Amino acid sequence: LGRHQNDQRATGFDYNGVRFGQDSLQVFAGLCAVDTPEHVEQMLRALRDNGQVCTRMGAYKPRTSPYAFQGHGKACLPWVFDLAGRYGIRVVAMEILHESHVDEIREALHATGHPTGVMLQIGTRNTQNFELLKAVGRQQEFPVLLKRGFGITLEESLNAAEYLASEGNTRVIFGLRGMKTNLGDPHRNFVDFAQVPVVKRLTRMPVCIDPSHSVGSRDATPDGIMDIFHVTAQGVVAGANMILVDFHPDPATALVDGPQALRLRELPWFLEDIRLARETY
Ligand code: PEP
Repeated sequence: LGRHQNDQRATGFDYNGVRFGQDSLQVFAGLCAVDTPEHVEQMLRALRDNGQVCTRMGAYKPRTSPYAFQGHGKACLPWVFDLAGRYGIRVVAMEILHESHVDEIREALHATGHPTGVMLQIGTRNTQNFELLKAVGRQQEFPVLLKRGFGITLEESLNAAEYLASEGNTRVIFGLRGMKTNLGDPHRNFVDFAQVPVVKRLTRMPVCIDPSHSVGSRDATPDGIMDIFHVTAQGVVAGANMILVDFHPDPATALVDGPQALRLRELPWFLEDIRLARETY
């Protein structure tokens, strides 16, 4: 991925008809946590109506509390992938917490018969789960989005990405999602999108930003613009190649992270904002 002196392989790639490179930009709007088929279908319909072919759908959720909703897991995969296929989704980003989840995803995906693909997401809590990284690096079928660790150095997170590549999978996207600090940040995490060009300079990986988990709320400036919109535009101007963002048809009933989910009516506005920011970049 650029960290090994003998490694000159390009890391931009095409997957399932979608381009991922340091020169492209893809939006993955969707549900942080899959809840009901109705909500998934409403989300997918909004994406299709707005010309989108990628989404995020969380089935396995890494929760701070063991008593919080843990995601539907394997049980929801057949209907999630079936709906994704019906609505023309080419790539679903889905977090995995254990290597057995890759097999569950592969099995459910192939069973649908739709030409939908999956991007495996390794979240910030598992950035340095080296055995998971090695296992996911050994499989070649799915590309991987690796989020940075929220409490480790950038260098350490970039080395974690190399674990995937060193086992053979160079189709890796690096995700910025904010850092935990002890400075009383006004956002859920300290927004780190100024590091997009740094990662692009140090590696050949496409860089993803996650404005939802960075900001953590729909708080807005007095003129009514949500911070999520502002930081997304900043990330795009900084050269982001992928945007992972939480939406929900009814955030008040979302089982995970409802306060940061954008509403479906905001999707066209969000996409237009990205288009304008990209023109600036
Ligand atoms: C997520 O994207 O659903 C998630 C849990 O993100 P992170 O690993 O960045 O907290």
